[in-house]
Amino acid sequence: MAELVNSWEQPINTGEIPLNRSMFDAIVVGGGPGGSSAAGYLAMAGKSVLLLEKGLWPRDKVCGDAVGGKSLGHVKALGVKETLEKSPHFRVTGIKFSSPKGNTVRVALPEEDVQRLEAGYSLPRKQFDHLLFDKCQQLVRENGGKVIQNCLVTGVLFDDGEGGEDPGNGSGNRRHAKGVTVKVGGRKGEERTYYSTEIVGAAGYQCPVAKAVVRDSFDEVLVDNTHFCDGYREYWRNVKGCGDGVGDIEIHFVDSVVPGYFWMFPVSKDVVNVGIGMVVSLLQKEKKKLRLLQKDVIENHPLFKERFADAEMIRGSGRGWALPFGSPRKKAKHQPRRASMNGIRLVGDSASLVDPFSGEGVGNALVTGELAAKHIIDGKSPEEYQTEMWKILGPELTNSYRMQKLSRRKWLLNWFVGKASKKPEIQEMMTEMIASKEAQENLHSPWFMFKTLMF
Ligand SMILES: Cc1cc2nc3c(=O)[nH]c(=O)nc-3n(C[C@H](O)[C@H](O)[C@H](O)COP(=O)(O)OP(=O)(O)OC[C@H]3O[C@@H](n4cnc5c(N)ncnc54)[C@H](O)[C@@H]3O)c2cc1C
Repeated sequence: MAELVNSWEQPINTGEIPLNRSMFDAIVVGGGPGGSSAAGYLAMAGKSVLLLEKGLWPRDKVCGDAVGGKSLGHVKALGVKETLEKSPHFRVTGIKFSSPKGNTVRVALPEEDVQRLEAGYSLPRKQFDHLLFDKCQQLVRENGGKVIQNCLVTGVLFDDGEGGEDPGNGSGNRRHAKGVTVKVGGRKGEERTYYSTEIVGAAGYQCPVAKAVVRDSFDEVLVDNTHFCDGYREYWRNVKGCGDGVGDIEIHFVDSVVPGYFWMFPVSKDVVNVGIGMVVSLLQKEKKKLRLLQKDVIENHPLFKERFADAEMIRGSGRGWALPFGSPRKKAKHQPRRASMNGIRLVGDSASLVDPFSGEGVGNALVTGELAAKHIIDGKSPEEYQTEMWKILGPELTNSYRMQKLSRRKWLLNWFVGKASKKPEIQEMMTEMIASKEAQENLHSPWFMFKTLMF
């Protein structure tokens, strides 16, 4: 047990660097949740994988740090759940919401999930990603693959020449990925080339593989500010009323922050991840700065200033990053965005799959990591990957987009949270929706919503 504590502060030994021009069954670019899971599942099926990661562990990742129930099946399947349970974390049992007017409502997570330890956690991504990457890199190496950290992937090679050339529409369909160019040792490192005809792009919203597909091969929009969100987080100690290792995470639709929201996610007994997020186009319109907005909420808002009175921010923890939402794009042929072409599948943030209402992206990164691996193993076409991905994630992403748009209206938030705070049936309905897909369908039914809200 002693060696488990803070094991995520330690370096990870990923073994020897493969020779230049080596060939693999699959190359996975990025070692976050999406890339680690894709590499782990491929390795478990006996594929030789090259897993490439720009960072050098231990490394941080800007996030709200909430790991929802959707992620936990994968955490278990990849063999990380037990280690995670033994390492410090905050067990989430419910979600508290507040409206611009200051009404609050608590939605309990499904009791059976909480009992089975399958409801959700929050813990620093530095820790979560370390545990996941470490396990998956072991799986990769045990199955004949290689792993390189501090390795910047700079481009994709295609069978009709170097990546990035010949970008014309249509011609992209005929190109087939055949490898990647990298710099081993970081930006100033040694240039190398590795080959595979199956590449998984999992390097987040600035993924070089996503650029090679969406922008360079098809001349389509990679970053759309109406579907991208800016997020800013800080870690705080000694915030009052944040549970003691078990309890609720909090989402607040604060008046000055709507159309965004302010979150407080405890990640351990005394540390809380505090942050704020807003869709980029709305942020630009409002001409606001997230850091200053957050400072104002913490120092002056009647619901929070007392809770932060004796609290202290952990120095250097204030950082921002983008969330590429999976909201459906208008008139796009591929939803939410093109996520595949010959020899390439994009997963997680690289495929723009963050939930546009909750901001959760870890679960969808793990889901698509597994899906991409399965499609490679089964020899399916890239087009089938795009279709199945949207079939699985499309309904809930579309639903969340509707919720996000509704949540931009202050009067509606005030009305809904006001009602929900007085009606246990609404709180139960929300718990049910977290628990079951069928219950989520009810959100599409205006009659169901009308009945529950009005009577
Ligand atoms: C402020 C904020 C709050 C959030 N809160 C939550 C939350 O509470 N819960 C939740 O589920 N999600 C949250 N998200 C979203 C979540 O962080 C992402 O959806 C998730 O990390 C996606 O995983 P991924 O593996 O696709 O990408 P990432 O986690 O971004 O991993 C990408 C990896 O690729 C590596 N990489 C990048 N470029 C290269 C390159 N050129 N070559 C090699 N490697 C490269 C990176 O170093 C990184 O390790 C939040 C995001 C932000 C910004």
